[in-house]
Amino acid sequence: MTIDVTKQHIVVAQNASGRNMNVPIYRLRGSRPGPTVYIQSSIHGAEVQGNVVIYHLIQRLKQLDICGEVILVPNCNPVGTNIKAGEYTLGRFDPVNGTNWNRGYHYVPDLVADFAKTVTPEESIEGIKRRFRQCLSTAIDEKLASPWGLGLAQQLNLKLQQIAVNADYVLDLHNGPVSTRHIYVPEYAKASATLFNIPHCIFIPNVFAGALDEATFCPWWTLTEAIENSTGRKVNFEVEAFTLEMGSQEVINFKEGDEDAESILAYLNAKGSLHQNAIAPKAIDRVGVYLKNYKTLFTDWGGMVEYIAKPGQYIKQGEPLAQILNIDDLDNENGSRVLSAPCDLIPILHFPSASVLSGTQLYKVFTEYETLT
Ligand SMILES: [Zn+2]
Repeated sequence: MTIDVTKQHIVVAQNASGRNMNVPIYRLRGSRPGPTVYIQSSIHGAEVQGNVVIYHLIQRLKQLDICGEVILVPNCNPVGTNIKAGEYTLGRFDPVNGTNWNRGYHYVPDLVADFAKTVTPEESIEGIKRRFRQCLSTAIDEKLASPWGLGLAQQLNLKLQQIAVNADYVLDLHNGPVSTRHIYVPEYAKASATLFNIPHCIFIPNVFAGALDEATFCPWWTLTEAIENSTGRKVNFEVEAFTLEMGSQEVINFKEGDEDAESILAYLNAKGSLHQNAIAPKAIDRVGVYLKNYKTLFTDWGGMVEYIAKPGQYIKQGEPLAQILNIDDLDNENGSRVLSAPCDLIPILHFPSASVLSGTQLYKVFTEYETLT
């Protein structure tokens, strides 16, 4: 068993001094054939736990018999990581223009539709995959070479996507504000949800909103459907992509990072990335929801709150979610009031600050959830 580890840096941005901002790319290759895996972390700069997960993954993978290749890109947004306001990292949006750092990836449905017309009934799955990847890669290159230029976030996203486009399995590591571990799973890959040790799963449709997981699976899902609709042929390209939310932002936890790495290895082992390995998903309670039942609870008031319902707790309708302090009534019985759950739910994440303005996303919660086995 020999594992080939290489490290290179690519330039993803330049600061105002004209200095390059680099991102490291670690490639671990085994001697046996197998799938290509792409894993990145911290596209949102405050969401740092994924970097520890990648650290543990590299340490573990170096000792394992890898089939194929695992590509790891930690701290993939060196701009976002370094934007601080006081004690906090403003890592989710480019503060210059408000752009979400995770919304500039490439997906053009017409390109998929045109490509689908070139697929013949005799063409092998491998042949289709090779040609389609080339087509996507060329489209990304053309976009990057636009004579009109591109925004900072989009340049960053497309440079990363150009590496991810060759992967069979793509994992984008994020964090919520104050959050339990959860994962976004494309509906067609629902069976893969239980291959990770992640208790909360959100099943998402074939809709592109700009994120890396969608930019990866939407083209393949759309191509699969187009081929079936036009020829009746059922194909399975075995391309999957997930956004993993590894707990709360602004937090690094090495021990939990090792468990997160174990969870990812269980998935990779199930997908054939490891030779003769016993790592398997753990027997834990898992619940899932369809995206339409993943609800946001906004406030129609401003004030100060204690978050009573913790991420991951099972809450019944009418039970308290939060206690709210009313500054103008501290001297009477209206000094505080309780916000109750509008239905049975599981809080997945909540706003990180105790002081909130009206219209704040206070909680994001699972409703109408199902137990997964
Ligand atoms: Zn994120």
